[in-house]
Amino acid sequence: MENEPFEEEYIFKKLKEFKSKDLSYSSGRILGSMCSEPHPLSKKVYMDFLDSNLGDHGLFEGTKAIEYEVINIIASFLSLDNPYGKVVTGGTEANIMAMRSARNLYKEINKIKNQFIKPFEVIIPKSAHFSFKKASDMLGFKLVEIDLDDEYKMDIEYVKENINKNTIAIVGVAGTTELGMIDPIEELSQISIDKNIYFHVDAAFGGFSIPFLNDIGYNLPNFDFSNDGVSSITIDPHKMGLTAIPAGCIIYRKKDYLDLISVDSPYLTSKKQSTIVGTRSGAASAATWAMLKYMGKKGYRELANSCMINTNFLADALFKEGFNLVTKPQLNIVGFNHPKIEIDDLIKAIEYKSWKVSTTTYPKAVRIVIMPHIKHTHIMEFIKDLKEVKKEFINTN
Ligand SMILES: *Cc1c(COP(=O)(O)O)cnc(C)c1O
Repeated sequence: MENEPFEEEYIFKKLKEFKSKDLSYSSGRILGSMCSEPHPLSKKVYMDFLDSNLGDHGLFEGTKAIEYEVINIIASFLSLDNPYGKVVTGGTEANIMAMRSARNLYKEINKIKNQFIKPFEVIIPKSAHFSFKKASDMLGFKLVEIDLDDEYKMDIEYVKENINKNTIAIVGVAGTTELGMIDPIEELSQISIDKNIYFHVDAAFGGFSIPFLNDIGYNLPNFDFSNDGVSSITIDPHKMGLTAIPAGCIIYRKKDYLDLISVDSPYLTSKKQSTIVGTRSGAASAATWAMLKYMGKKGYRELANSCMINTNFLADALFKEGFNLVTKPQLNIVGFNHPKIEIDDLIKAIEYKSWKVSTTTYPKAVRIVIMPHIKHTHIMEFIKDLKEVKKEFINTN
């Protein structure tokens, strides 16, 4: 079939039809996403930088300077002066880059030429994001999954037991994807110093909340570069940072870690490239920079705090209604189930009432992420619906 050209009017009409099938954040019905409505300023700035390609940054010196500032500002939230890093497509790319740095560092230290002759191992918590499975497949290392303790955090004793001469990295998570829990980063940092192993912290979700919540007295565990063993941190502006997708960050303590994964890029103005993708959005950097300036620490403190207030409100209400909380929320994620309702039935009934929730795998539970687009009124409606759902099951069984 020939792809005939059409008028703009037709194109917009058709796109509107497609878009009408998408859910909107503003409906309050999206309860299981780690993304949110981007701030209007971030959208506006994005449009202004659509032509900017950081993969060829010799042509875009201005945007390159913006990226440099973004990395420096975000690193300052994470207690690091003189950071090295990149604004990339998201937590996945950032984690793959970190694992690539770790593997290449190990190869360099151990003078290994062929990466396929040794069974490299990476220690991750059972709660780690699936991006590490992609990294494992792409980079050819084995994942050693560590069991969680009663609070769904990485169990330190198992970490110690599982370190061996093939371990190229340890990964800890600050804000797990399923339950928002923070692994014992201080202890993991100490272990990685003692054993001289690369230590990566995945704070894709928690990185834009934990520092700000601690500023206002939440007393969450320290997860940042003030722990000397931390080699790199993943942090996503397109989650709690209110920036438009795609915007993730990888921040490194040392320049070496970035140099170890750079390859020559001869036909471009920039002669080295370390990111996974080639042509790379400069708009992501510009939009993130705009949000960092616009929100300031004060804005991010208020945002994180309001999400936590809503989270605690939801958790208390669920508890009062006889639901089980998987664990007390550390960040703005709540996992719950009901002692008398089969979990799959519970999820079906909630979705039948037009809510989009997600699920956790360990343990199996309904997972609610209280992002900035979810307001108090949405939670009230949700609780009201849950009461009805509960009645249906308790009466008929
Ligand atoms: C969301 C998330 C990721 C993946 O980030 P993307 O931006 O979706 O690629 C990685 N790690 C954690 C802990 C996450 O929550």
